[in-house]
Amino acid sequence: MKVLKFGGTSVGSVEGLNNIKQIVNDNADSLIVVVSALSGVTNTLVEMTRLAASHDAGYEAMLPALVKRHEDIINVVVPREGRLSCMRVVNTFVNESLSNSLGVLMANTELSDELYEAVSDAIVSHGEILSSAIVSLMLKNSKPHFAPAFIHTTDENGSRIVDWASTEKHVIKEFAGDMTRVHVVQGFIAADSQTGVKTTLGRGGSDYTAAILAAILQADSLEIWTDVDGFYDSDPRTNPDARLIERMTYEQAQRLCDNGAKVIYPPTIAPVAMRGIDVWVKNTFNPTAPGTLITGK
Ligand code: ASP
Ligand code: MG
Repeated sequence: MKVLKFGGTSVGSVEGLNNIKQIVNDNADSLIVVVSALSGVTNTLVEMTRLAASHDAGYEAMLPALVKRHEDIINVVVPREGRLSCMRVVNTFVNESLSNSLGVLMANTELSDELYEAVSDAIVSHGEILSSAIVSLMLKNSKPHFAPAFIHTTDENGSRIVDWASTEKHVIKEFAGDMTRVHVVQGFIAADSQTGVKTTLGRGGSDYTAAILAAILQADSLEIWTDVDGFYDSDPRTNPDARLIERMTYEQAQRLCDNGAKVIYPPTIAPVAMRGIDVWVKNTFNPTAPGTLITGK
């Protein structure tokens, strides 16, 4: 089994989604496909949260645009028979669930920090809920999952960390023995293991979701599908002589991530390094390029 994670640019355009379909269909293994929100959507949700929290109803005008962004893509990539139910999911989540959560911020002037955090996490989690609906309806016969049911966090001295014991137990219950070939899971979103309240793994956290699943389920490999060919020895956008690094150790990858290489979210490396799972960084828009292999071997 392999875990494939597709980032925001990969799921954010028709070209990217068509390539995802191809990549998944070309794979013979059973797969867990982890998805980010469509590119820019999490930023939009953060901005809506800010507006609602400052009692600015300007967020309301942004809701139809959010529906439209998803609808335009659904109309092209989701097979005809799935389109109506996909649009129903988008409309319900945006116009009911998301709109209600924003309304809570709009209407309340004195929310406790705890409540504010719970509502804002619920708001930003809509990005992955919508993208995963599109991907699972696009990939016929795939099985949709709901990450907060098994990716669990807990608070430790005021900071939020993964509750590994609870996550391991629930991930195994969710996936062990399930012979479905393609599973679809939201990255980034989680729930508190004690209260069940929605949480997130932090901005960029979809990579981490994929690593957690790969580690617990002892995947054969973890593939991070993004919009660059892999790690470079310098920034290819500013240095035309930048060279792709075809292979590196977990330690080298960790160092590059910690030093600001935006290719992978830094907490991603540790869980897979601990179990010796190979990590590939691959380009959804250039899938035959070799990519970067991060390995302990
Ligand atoms: N959608 C989330 C973000 O933009 C998580 C992710 O993309 O990894 O931060
Ligand atoms: Mg990312």
